[in-house]
Amino acid sequence: MAGIAVSITPELTLLPSVFGKLGLVTVADLLLHFPLRYEDETRLTPIADVQPGRFVQVQGEIVQRHAVLATRRLDVWLRDESGDLLLRFLHAFPGQAARMAPGVSLRVAGEARVGFSGLEMLHPRWRAVKPGTPLPDGLTPVYPAVAGVTQSALRRQIRLALAQIDWQDTLPEQVLRAHDLPDFFSSVCVLHHPSPETSVQGLQARTHAAWRRIKFDELLAQQLSLRQARAQRQLMGAPRLAARSGLVQRLLDALPFALTSAQRRAWQQIQEDLQQSRPMQRLLQGDVGSGKTVVAALAAAQAIDAGYQVAFMVPTELLAEQHFQKLVHWFAPLQISVGMLSGSLGNKARNKVLEALRLGELALVVGTHALFQREVSFARPGLLVVDEQHRFGVAQRMALRDKGVAPHQLMMSATPIPRTLAMTYYADLDVSVIDALPPARSPVRTRLVDDRRRQQVMDWVRQRAVSGEQVYWVCPLVEESEALQLQTAMDTYAALCLAWPDSAVGLVHGRMRAAEKQAVMADFVADKLRVLVATTVIEVGVDVPNASVMVVEHAERMGLAQLHQLRGRVGRGMRRSECVLLYHEPLSDLARARLKIMFESQDGFHIAREDLRLRGPGEFIGARQSGVPVLRFANPDEDADLMQAVRETAEYLLQYEPGRAQAHIARWYGARQSYAQA
Ligand code: ADP
Ligand code: MG
Repeated sequence: MAGIAVSITPELTLLPSVFGKLGLVTVADLLLHFPLRYEDETRLTPIADVQPGRFVQVQGEIVQRHAVLATRRLDVWLRDESGDLLLRFLHAFPGQAARMAPGVSLRVAGEARVGFSGLEMLHPRWRAVKPGTPLPDGLTPVYPAVAGVTQSALRRQIRLALAQIDWQDTLPEQVLRAHDLPDFFSSVCVLHHPSPETSVQGLQARTHAAWRRIKFDELLAQQLSLRQARAQRQLMGAPRLAARSGLVQRLLDALPFALTSAQRRAWQQIQEDLQQSRPMQRLLQGDVGSGKTVVAALAAAQAIDAGYQVAFMVPTELLAEQHFQKLVHWFAPLQISVGMLSGSLGNKARNKVLEALRLGELALVVGTHALFQREVSFARPGLLVVDEQHRFGVAQRMALRDKGVAPHQLMMSATPIPRTLAMTYYADLDVSVIDALPPARSPVRTRLVDDRRRQQVMDWVRQRAVSGEQVYWVCPLVEESEALQLQTAMDTYAALCLAWPDSAVGLVHGRMRAAEKQAVMADFVADKLRVLVATTVIEVGVDVPNASVMVVEHAERMGLAQLHQLRGRVGRGMRRSECVLLYHEPLSDLARARLKIMFESQDGFHIAREDLRLRGPGEFIGARQSGVPVLRFANPDEDADLMQAVRETAEYLLQYEPGRAQAHIARWYGARQSYAQA
């Protein structure tokens, strides 16, 4: 790989394109590509002292070689003053045997293991050296790499870049002093090439001061770009959505229930936002079943009353249909037109809705993200509601926002995010929380049942079904395979139909056409089906208050958030609800821990915290956010102590040193998408 000329501004200098495989575009990206770990090649271990399972480096002379050309196997015996060691290569490259002739001196690094004939090293890293060649003077970094971009290419390129540039600090001296942070460039250098005296432990555990600086900067970059995006949107202005004819009140009067005080509080905050001349950017958080939909409907009513249109976006077709029904039920009596756009709509029907939106004849439209994929134009766009927004990921959220679908935006999420995470990920949003469930909800009794007792569960479920209750029977994702999941659902469906020929059993899964799904759901809602066998398509948002029993197959394979969402489908009506989590032995420790948490708690926040503890924040929130600047180094939970300093610094830079703020964002996001540009 050819070297590159590095200018003084690594943010702008492009790397050879092969590094793109690692997502590295500029030299700045490369320099921020930090080692996963380090190997100590500053020392040689006498062969006699080599122990299995430990990384060591040895040096000696080849005394014997055994090559099997046909299978490309190569065995080599290495000798130093203290003993012999066998090196084995199962896929020797052409010419390798020739280069490993007896008499050649090798330096070898790797982990030894106990083989047939004593200690051996399988595929060690090796190179021929002249005796007396000096050892490296620092720890050797091991980088995240992929096929086509080798460790040695990364090391060479990074060394080259470090030698040629002097990377300016983006932070002013007083910030560094105030928060006791080391200089940026020397931190980068330390992480790539720590001296042998550096505490490897501190480096590996990422507690070293240099790591602290890098994490600080990463969190700061995220904070800056989120805040900047927010500030940019604030500048755009928005219509004040003031009520004119009391539509909100009429909707409230028509509801069969009164708002809880938690709902009222959230609604007040939203109502205030809507009347401002800058766009609302609010997240409405509330546990599963806390009643977010009706709050969104009130916001919609306010916008419509002010003469504007509302788009209501949901992640699944099923949810689109359900929300459509609910909104029609609420709004039709008030003479407000509601439309639906879904991916499965025929061209003609679709065009009719689009036309009505364009002409301003339709006040409210519900749809999946297909709603926004093609050109949808509103005569008077006022409010965008995004339900289950965590399903969309930050990238989509940003894209939506910047498409300017509507000026005021209300995001809703049932994923209760612990405060420190919320502070980092939602720096661009105001947050309202519905922190209490509507009254008259009885807790859902949860049982953990071994799969082998399935027959008992079936008998028990049948009794409840016969006595008029409705049952969800959920089959989860199997080994990430939709086809298999489908199979499990079909098998379960067939088994239940066979066992209970006189009970109405329905099936709904992701591969069905939207109309079929809707028909089955409608039957379930209308209480024509006793049991609904479903894949996890029902996980989000589905609301059938009469359903009071939930059986989950292979609960051990599911994540906590998903289990909590699923269980939230029952316990919505007056009946005492039950949830049976069927598990299949053997259970991993993680699965056991998850099931225990589900058994013990129904509090979404508690479950989320436990989830975070078990999984770490990267997976907790990052899984769906590929391509956007998720945190690579910092961990908002572990590094919570940095957050306050990061926020203060972000505020300070944006206000007093915007040039530095820009430079900092460019350094971290550079040629990649930043929040501001997503
Ligand atoms: P989520 O917050 O999970 O989206 P929903 O909006 O689907 O919850 O509400 C769950 C159920 O609670 C719905 O059937 C809804 O009509 C009902 N509900 C909402 N608010 C109240 C309330 N204040 N009192 C009684 N029931 C309510
Ligand atoms: Mg909902």
